[in-house]
Amino acid sequence: MKFGGSLLASHQGIRRAGDIVERTRKAGDEFVVVVSALGEVTDVLLQAANDAKSWSEDEILEAIDELRRTHQLAAEHSSLQKDEKEAVLDDIEASLEKLREALLGISILKELSPRSRDLVVSFGERMSAPIVSAEIRSRGLDSSSLTGGEAGIITDDTFGEAAPIHGATVRAVRRRLLPMLERGEVPVVTGFIARSKGGEITTLGRGGSDYTATLLASSLGADEVWIWTDVNGILTADPRVVKKPATVPQLSYAEAEELAFFGAKNMHPLALGPARTAAVPVRIKNGFRPELPGTLITKEQTKSRGVVKVVAVVRNVGLLTVAGETLQGRPGVAADVFSALASNRVNVLMISQSVSEANISMIVRRTSLKLAEKALRRELRNQGIVVEGDPEVSVVAAVGAGMRGERGVAAKIFGAIASRGINIRMIAQGSSELNVSLVVNEGDADDAVRALHDQIVNQVRRSRE
Ligand code: ADP
Ligand code: ASP
Ligand code: MG
Repeated sequence: MKFGGSLLASHQGIRRAGDIVERTRKAGDEFVVVVSALGEVTDVLLQAANDAKSWSEDEILEAIDELRRTHQLAAEHSSLQKDEKEAVLDDIEASLEKLREALLGISILKELSPRSRDLVVSFGERMSAPIVSAEIRSRGLDSSSLTGGEAGIITDDTFGEAAPIHGATVRAVRRRLLPMLERGEVPVVTGFIARSKGGEITTLGRGGSDYTATLLASSLGADEVWIWTDVNGILTADPRVVKKPATVPQLSYAEAEELAFFGAKNMHPLALGPARTAAVPVRIKNGFRPELPGTLITKEQTKSRGVVKVVAVVRNVGLLTVAGETLQGRPGVAADVFSALASNRVNVLMISQSVSEANISMIVRRTSLKLAEKALRRELRNQGIVVEGDPEVSVVAAVGAGMRGERGVAAKIFGAIASRGINIRMIAQGSSELNVSLVVNEGDADDAVRALHDQIVNQVRRSRE
C-alpha cells in the first residue's frame, strides 16, 4: 500500500496511515508500505536545487529550517511518544545535514547536474519514511524503513526519469523484502527514488511513488495495490476546478493509463504498467474515509452509458505549428519534422494535421517548446516552412471507454465547449478511442473542463438519478 504526500501532510494524516496499517496487519494481511514525500516537499527541494546555484550559505540554512519545521510538525501530529519522536527527529536531522552539504556543493560549484538534482530531491521521501515507520512501530508492530534502492529497485542512469531494469529489480526486491515479510515486519519503502546499477540515487519522475508501489507489487506477486490519498478515488474531474465531482467506481488499466498521462491525480504516466502486466488490481482510496469503495482499476473495460468518464487537463504544455506549402503531398517533410524533434529528445504528446495538409500541429511539454522551435527552424530551414510556438495553451481531455464506436460524442464535446464561447485550437482523438483531446488557450482551460463536466458527465449522472 502506498500513502500519498497529500494524505501524509494533512493534519492527522500520519495517524490515519498508522490506523490503516494496524487494522490491515491485524486482519492477517502481509504488505509493504510505500510513502511519498510530505505534501509539497518535493517541489520545495526541486526549487532549492535550482536556486542553490546562486544561494549564500544563509539562504541554504533558511531552506533547511523550513524543511525541518515541516517534518517536526508531522512528527508532532503523529502518535509517537517522546523517546520515539526524538529518535526520528535525530534521523531527520542527519538527512538535513546531508542535504545541506549537497546544496552547499551546488552553490560552491554554481552548477546543478541531473545527478545532483536527484540526490537533492530524494531527501523528501528519505525524511517521510522514518516518521511513518516509527508511527507503525508505536502500534506494537515491527517495522523499518528503507530507500527504494535498498528495497531492490534498480534503474538505468537517466537521472530524473530513470527506467527500472526489470529482471534485476524483481530478483533484488524479492531477496530484500520477502524475508522481512516472512518475519512479520512491515517494510516502509521510500517511493519515487531508486538506485542505478552503479549505486547512485536515481528518481523515477514526478508522481513516481505510485510507480514504486506497482513495481514492488508485481515483483512480489502481490494480490492488490492500494493507493491511499486525500480524495475518494479517481474523480470525474479535478475537485479544485469542478464542484462536487463524483468518484469513478471502476476503470480499466488502459483508461487509467490515459488519465495518468493526462495528469489526473498527478500519477506517473507509467505507474500502471507493472500492475497491468502482472494483472494486479489497483485500488485508489481515501485515507480519511477507508470505508468508501474508492476506484478499482482492473483489466475489465466497462463501456458504461456515461460515455465520458473523466475530464482531465494537462497544463504546462505548448502548441507547436509547422506550416508551409511544402507539407502538401511531400511525405518526407512530415518525417523530417518528427525526426528533428526526436533527435533533440523532444517528446510529442499530441499530433494533428489539417485536411489540406498545409500544417501540422503538435503539443509538447512547455519546458521543451523553445528547444523544439529552434530544432525545427534549424533543420527545416531550406524547406520553406514556418514554425510557430505558443506556450500559453492547455490540453483538455475527455476519457472513457464508452466513446468507442459511439456516434455523436465528438459533436457533443465540441457543442459543450462552443456554448461557452471557447475557441478550440487543435483537436485529436487517440486511435484507442479512449479519449478526445482539445487544445484551448490556457486561460480557458478551467471553463472548458467545467463545460464538459456539466454538460456531458453530469447530464448522464442526472439522467440516471
Ligand atoms: P497523492 O499525494 O496522494 O499522491 P496527488 O497529489 O498525486 O496525491 O493527487 C491527488 C490530488 O489530485 C487530489 O487531491 C486532487 O485534488 C487532484 N486531482 C486532480 N484531478 C483529479 C481526478 N480526476 N481525480 C482525483 N484527484 C484529482
Ligand atoms: N514526491 C514525488 C513527487 O512529488 C513522488 C510522488 O509523490 O509520487 O513527484
Ligand atoms: Mg502523487
